[in-house]
Amino acid sequence: MAAEQSANGLTNAHTPTFGLASGPITEVHAFWLAGMSCDGCSIAAVGAQQPSVEQLVSGSIPGLPKVVLHHPVLDVEAGEAFIKPYRLARDGKLGAPYVVIYEGSVADERIAAHHGGYWSAMGADHDASGQARPIPTAQWLSDLAPGAAAVMAIGTCATWGGIPAAAGNVTGSMAVMDLLGKDYVSALGLPVINIPGCSPVGDNFTETVSVVLMFLAGVGPLPEFDELGRPAWMFKGTVHNRCVRGGHYEEGVFAQNYGERECLVELGCWGPVVQCNIVSRGAIGHAGGCMNTGGICIGCTMPGFPDAFAPFYKAPPGKTISSLASRAVGSFIRPLRRITQRRSNLTARWNKTGQVPSGWGHVDASGPLFKAVTYFYRKLQYTGAYSPASERQRRLQAEAHSYIGESKRKIEEEAGI
Ligand code: SF4
Repeated sequence: MAAEQSANGLTNAHTPTFGLASGPITEVHAFWLAGMSCDGCSIAAVGAQQPSVEQLVSGSIPGLPKVVLHHPVLDVEAGEAFIKPYRLARDGKLGAPYVVIYEGSVADERIAAHHGGYWSAMGADHDASGQARPIPTAQWLSDLAPGAAAVMAIGTCATWGGIPAAAGNVTGSMAVMDLLGKDYVSALGLPVINIPGCSPVGDNFTETVSVVLMFLAGVGPLPEFDELGRPAWMFKGTVHNRCVRGGHYEEGVFAQNYGERECLVELGCWGPVVQCNIVSRGAIGHAGGCMNTGGICIGCTMPGFPDAFAPFYKAPPGKTISSLASRAVGSFIRPLRRITQRRSNLTARWNKTGQVPSGWGHVDASGPLFKAVTYFYRKLQYTGAYSPASERQRRLQAEAHSYIGESKRKIEEEAGI
């Protein structure tokens, strides 16, 4: 397979060995770390279906190394038995490739340490006096990142800082990228991979894990990430590009109350500028997703979230110009479309008879004005093409009928009918 090259110069021309015996990578450890987190990212991940966490940890996806997941909530081990693989990886003694997954903001532990405490920790080391000292997850991140095949930040807190890093941030909370710095690359040469969202779409996460693992195993190309380390195929477009209400926006029809089916921009939707795929992918198993279920977009996947989108439920300033323009265009386009739609709801027979034999309700027969408009519409529609009623089409139909009639006659003759 030819080496793929991304915009930042990374290639998949090599398969990482991590100093291990040569041969295909069959297992990859995944060390999950939680910082200033609500555990929503973990919940989202375990709800993923394409692929599911169960498929990843059971190694049931062809070509994909099996994931050995170490997760503070999901792991069956507890205490030192749970921490041991983390220590082995930290000390370079794991003997297997690993990735690090960080959930939640990374707090500035120096602030907490100054007061003799910590913000987020997991496991403990003992100091010279034998005193157990909790190990901040930020410390685990710093220690594990250099040897990791990849570092993945899941959720908006880990990717950009999120709510703990909003205005008034007392914990010094920051993104994984902020802690590791611009020059960080993993053992595989990858900068931090970011899957934002509060909470993120679980499938976005597990799919990214899968494609990274395929790359890691040498069976897939380097996935395309954007300049902020987001999977480009998921986050290039905006919510608005994919929204089920986009047609209403385009025709200049806007909801004024929740529960209405039109575009939500006047209720405070930021979809036109927010990069996210939730409306096309759904929240879980292609079901749900903010605008699909009547909610506005508050920009939770974006680095500026939440401050840049506050106050929530107040329409964005830019909507005045854009919705006015949509209204103006829509007021012209909508009636034209309704005429075309009406014509599309009539069969050729009903057009001729001027009657629609539906028992469900009265449908108006075509009046002279409608007939005149559709006459010109048809003229335009078939300019440069053949209309279904043209001489050429009639001839083709006659040929088809005679050909089929011939075959029918032969079959009947053979059957002695
Ligand atoms: Fe765009 Fe939001 Fe309206 Fe959907 S609801 S069309 S994302 S502005």
